[in-house]
Amino acid sequence: MIQDILVVGSGSAGLIAALSLKRKIPQIHVRIVRSPDIGVIGVGEGTTPNFPKHLFEYLGISKKKFYEIAQPTWKLGIRFLWGARGRFDYTFDQQLDVTAAELQMANGYYCEDEFSSVSLPSALMREDKVFPRQENGCPDIQGWQAFHIENEKLVNVLELTARELGVEIVDGRVTEAEKAADGSIAAVHLEDGQRLAADFFIDCSGFRSELLGKALGEEFVSFSDSLFCDRAVVGGWDRTDEPILPYTTAEQMDAGWAWQIEHEHHVNRGYVYSSQFISDDDARAEFLRKNPKAPKNARIVKFRSGYYKRQWVENVVAIGNAGGFVEPLEATALMIVCGKVQDLVEMITRSQRRPTPGMRDLYNEQSSQSWIDIRDFLALHYMLNTAMDTPFWQHCRAHTNIGEIQRLVEFYEENGPTGFCRYRIPSVLNDFGLEGYLVMLVGNQTPHRAGFTPPEEDRLRFEARRARFIETAKQSMTVKESLAYVHHPGWQWNSDLPPAN
Ligand SMILES: Cc1cc2nc3c(=O)[nH]c(=O)nc-3n(C[C@H](O)[C@H](O)[C@H](O)COP(=O)(O)OP(=O)(O)OC[C@H]3O[C@@H](n4cnc5c(N)ncnc54)[C@H](O)[C@@H]3O)c2cc1C
Repeated sequence: MIQDILVVGSGSAGLIAALSLKRKIPQIHVRIVRSPDIGVIGVGEGTTPNFPKHLFEYLGISKKKFYEIAQPTWKLGIRFLWGARGRFDYTFDQQLDVTAAELQMANGYYCEDEFSSVSLPSALMREDKVFPRQENGCPDIQGWQAFHIENEKLVNVLELTARELGVEIVDGRVTEAEKAADGSIAAVHLEDGQRLAADFFIDCSGFRSELLGKALGEEFVSFSDSLFCDRAVVGGWDRTDEPILPYTTAEQMDAGWAWQIEHEHHVNRGYVYSSQFISDDDARAEFLRKNPKAPKNARIVKFRSGYYKRQWVENVVAIGNAGGFVEPLEATALMIVCGKVQDLVEMITRSQRRPTPGMRDLYNEQSSQSWIDIRDFLALHYMLNTAMDTPFWQHCRAHTNIGEIQRLVEFYEENGPTGFCRYRIPSVLNDFGLEGYLVMLVGNQTPHRAGFTPPEEDRLRFEARRARFIETAKQSMTVKESLAYVHHPGWQWNSDLPPAN
């Protein structure tokens, strides 16, 4: 029976894992060991909507405390400065996988020329607004958003909450893993001579993958035939007069793409690129030309895309970068951390803390499928972009392997943005849903042969819907205005109130 868990690493993955295990299974002793010398990766600042849900609904963290320490801003989606249109918005609600009662066809069929403001969140993005205004003037904060959060501030609030819950944190560098006779991990040894034993280990040691990769030697599955980027140049600046945008921006570059992430007092930029197609110096120079305010010595982060074939081996489960990594084009890392931690907690709980080999195999199969879904979805972003003609983008169009979603693309090319496309999504547990694929296909103006031209009356009804969303969005609130309410000492989050008797 699992009684004692040791988490290696206290980046966002380690802290979320430790907090979730302790919150949901309080009888387990949960300890973290982490190396202050190595520190945390310090990047990873865009999230998806399951992240605030995990914090507030699953873990029950007080919103007041979280907003005070982590100082998040809101993210309605991603603005792609990308592809044939030059720009389209990917929101977290349904823009395209929708057929309005008054229309003949799904929304995508009306968006061949203009694809914007087809839902309220997309209209808000278009107008640089974040929330509608309530009658009392306050922002109507909806559940459709995610966060932008500075990594260090996130780690601070998670660490504080973990300690309050009774998670023990030991400082020290793991130098060796001691194996038991059955091949499982019995303990880790620290540089200072301490031996930390446990009966279950969570490897959250980041790219070092100390237990799963190094000690257990699990096979790494590379995504290098689908995703060609392997480095990022990262650097931001303190905000002066730039508006705080309610979305992440993803912008095509000569040999990759650049993100812009919006914090209240800081603008974070990074250029993800392929070292096969551009040198570090040239990438930094291109980045600085675009972002003259970025520091001249913007740092370079190297990574490899892929995952360990099994995420759970013996008594070790890897979460976060220790288990796998893909570039942050859809900010999926924290999304998977939260999803996988919930699965693990559920499996440990439902097996009365004695997880069976069958549970472990199921966890591994589902985790692999999640990684493959993410790989294929990101690969699709590259393959569909016909706008750029540099050697990197030519290579992407010609050689990107989009794996199991090739059939979905072919179905789309034949039938257009119909809801039937969902039956060509290869896995049922897919995190992006049909909406994600449709936004990429319609957003990139991928040609199809459906041949539907909306009759005039139908088109006018569609335009009337857009006009209503735009009208509401124009009267809505900016991020700056909404933050002013949330920071006011009198602001009260309903979810922080004790339940009524
Ligand atoms: C360029 C880039 C951009 C990214 N952008 C995003 C994004 O927008 N959104 C997103 O969700 N994710 C993003 N990520 C991923 C992001 O890194 C992760 O989401 C997140 O920060 C989780 O990191 P981690 O906890 O797995 O690893 P880390 O933060 O690296 O933490 C590792 C921990 O392990 C400890 N450790 C390591 N080795 C040892 C040892 N031997 N002994 C003891 N302790 C040890 C370290 O001290 C640290 O505490 C990005 C990553 C990169 C590279």
